[in-house]
Amino acid sequence: MKNILLLGASGSIGTKTIDVVRQHPDRYKITGISVGWNVEFLRNYLKFHPELESVCVSEEDTSLVSEYPDIHFYFGEDGLRSIIQDGKYDLMVNALQGFVGLMPTLVSIENHIDIALANKETMVAAGDLVMKMARKKKVNIYPIDSEHSAIFQCLQGNSHKAIRKLIITASGGSFRHLTREQLKDVTLQQALAHPNWDMGHKITIDSATMMNKGFEVIEAHWLFDVPYDKIDTLLHKESVVHSFVEFIDHSLIAQLGVSDMRIPIQFSLSYPERITDESESLDLAALGTLHFEKMDYQRFPLLKLAYDAGKEGGNYPAIMNAANEEAVQLFLDGKIEFVDIENRIFSCMDKADYISAPNYDQILESDRWATEYVRNMKG
Ligand code: MG
Repeated sequence: MKNILLLGASGSIGTKTIDVVRQHPDRYKITGISVGWNVEFLRNYLKFHPELESVCVSEEDTSLVSEYPDIHFYFGEDGLRSIIQDGKYDLMVNALQGFVGLMPTLVSIENHIDIALANKETMVAAGDLVMKMARKKKVNIYPIDSEHSAIFQCLQGNSHKAIRKLIITASGGSFRHLTREQLKDVTLQQALAHPNWDMGHKITIDSATMMNKGFEVIEAHWLFDVPYDKIDTLLHKESVVHSFVEFIDHSLIAQLGVSDMRIPIQFSLSYPERITDESESLDLAALGTLHFEKMDYQRFPLLKLAYDAGKEGGNYPAIMNAANEEAVQLFLDGKIEFVDIENRIFSCMDKADYISAPNYDQILESDRWATEYVRNMKG
């Protein structure tokens, strides 16, 4: 029986993780969750999950504490740290959204708890720090991101030395058919309509700008220890091939499947085993054709920026991550246009001071600076 701590339980990955665990009550038990602001979700969850032992919520709530005297409640950022330190977990599922996911990842590693990682911002902002610490503490990090799960699966039984390159597929997001000129008129509602995946708001916008794919390139670099010039991206509008690995003998191995995040989530829990699930078979005959297209870096400049920031390293990826997070929030709040997301990120990268090997505090400071810069930018 694996005891699981699920951070970000009410989000898109969080609820799908709960669904996977529900299918395998003999194998997995969620004994701790964090839920951010969604107290309604939490109340509902508490009703049906008496096995729950620990809960972390953003804001202190005394009525919950008196209603559930047997549950250990934690609050706020300090609570998030303590819930990891205090519990007895075999695995922490990090399904938090954004930079806030970094601290729990590091605390989990410090406490020798393996991680199933959906929070890619952790790897973008501090991949070097995270991987060094994970190696030192011998903590495993299993990818939940569908592309990285695909690569992880393709690599099974193959040696790292045999990798020629990683090929990450990209659906192209909500605006893949539009020219850069046409992007000037798009609305928030259009941006939130992803053609293939049903996901949270931030990642859906990140997909439309292709920033998400840039993040995934950086995430792959750190997770699989592969240099940037050996990581390609490929447009693939059906999102059926979740990624490829090309080996030195030119064999290309791919992982295919329906667009259902429960599949990579489950593999991150069950690895190295494969177990049955409730998703569907991929019907290739019904699909008939799959399309692949060369990535257009002029059309998607944020993807090019991510490669550059990744190669420069230091605090640049953390700056880029923070600038993106704030710009996307401003767009979601209706305060800037879609094309301003790019403009603000590029402007912020231009102004940022480079730090070659940032420690944790310097990464926090870079994040704070870039967030402020993008928030206060005019135009
Ligand atoms: Mg992905």
